[in-house]
Amino acid sequence: MTAQATTSEPAASEPARRKTAIPKNPGRRDLGLRATLLFPNREIVERYYVPVIYTACRTCYSEQDPDEIFRRALAGDFDSLKMQKLIGSVIESGHGSTIEHVVFTFAISGVSRTLSHQLVRHRAGVAFDQQSQRYVKFKGAATMLPHSIAEGDPDLRTRYEEQVDGALGLYGDMLQAGVPGEDARFIFPNATRTNLVMTANLRALIHMSGLRLCTMAQWEIRRLFQLIRHEIFSVSPFLGSFLAPKCVPLGYCDEFNNRDGHCPIRPHKDRVLEAWAEKAAAARAAGRELPVT
Ligand SMILES: Cc1cc2nc3c(=O)[nH]c(=O)nc-3n(C[C@H](O)[C@H](O)[C@H](O)COP(=O)(O)OP(=O)(O)OC[C@H]3O[C@@H](n4cnc5c(N)ncnc54)[C@H](O)[C@@H]3O)c2cc1C
Repeated sequence: MTAQATTSEPAASEPARRKTAIPKNPGRRDLGLRATLLFPNREIVERYYVPVIYTACRTCYSEQDPDEIFRRALAGDFDSLKMQKLIGSVIESGHGSTIEHVVFTFAISGVSRTLSHQLVRHRAGVAFDQQSQRYVKFKGAATMLPHSIAEGDPDLRTRYEEQVDGALGLYGDMLQAGVPGEDARFIFPNATRTNLVMTANLRALIHMSGLRLCTMAQWEIRRLFQLIRHEIFSVSPFLGSFLAPKCVPLGYCDEFNNRDGHCPIRPHKDRVLEAWAEKAAAARAAGRELPVT
């Protein structure tokens, strides 16, 4: 019953990949979960999304009416790189409302309830619809098997699978005995897979990706956001480039659990502040003050 996440080994001809200190990366393992961008397609994104965002940005700084700006953007009156530059600097400045005007809808399937519980904690700018465990009577509910269990102690794996399969078996027996699905489902483990539709505006998607692409995030939800980023890239490399761990735009890591610096993507803020203090002390010793800009 348990669907195992399988590993794709590199071919013998492939060069060995350099190991990094980044933890818990699900790497290229096929976890059996999917994220498919339902809407918009590339054509719509290319034709309308950048002009809509540009119109929102430009309206703030222009005497022109927004409909005129939009018409001109669609007509190709503005250089597309200049449009991207303005959008990029507005996003970097944190003027996030400008990117709330465009949304992306995903079909998300095969994720565990462990993941979906984390995902639906996001509230602002995002909508979810999830497969019901009340109305759906599962004939063979699929589950996620974490790699640490799949590749760990064989005895523990066997016991784990017996428990999960036992729970699903009991669920089926309860349904057969007339227990309503909404009650029988209480026996489902967190490992049970589920499906959702998620629509998020670009601001929410960047925020969620910042948290969930971070190496401190749980491996399964991190993989989901890797797939989501891949989907956005496939319709717009420009917009996709804003989906990154939060440390990338920040320039430093603010995660408490990375104070030891084991994730090397960006230096921890404690190190940055220490380096600043050292520099300031050295400058003072030399009779200068560091300029504060
Ligand atoms: C690595 C990691 C570990 C976590 N561990 C735990 C845990 O142990 N226990 C736990 O309960 N949760 C945990 N969480 C969930 C976390 O606390 C948040 O609930 C979740 O990430 C949703 O993010 P958000 O609050 O930014 O919400 P979003 O809905 O994505 O909100 C986006 C932003 O909008 C603003 N906003 C939204 N709603 C409000 C509001 N009501 N008032 C004011 N501003 C608002 C905030 O600026 C917020 O950052 C964890 C998350 C991560 C990434």
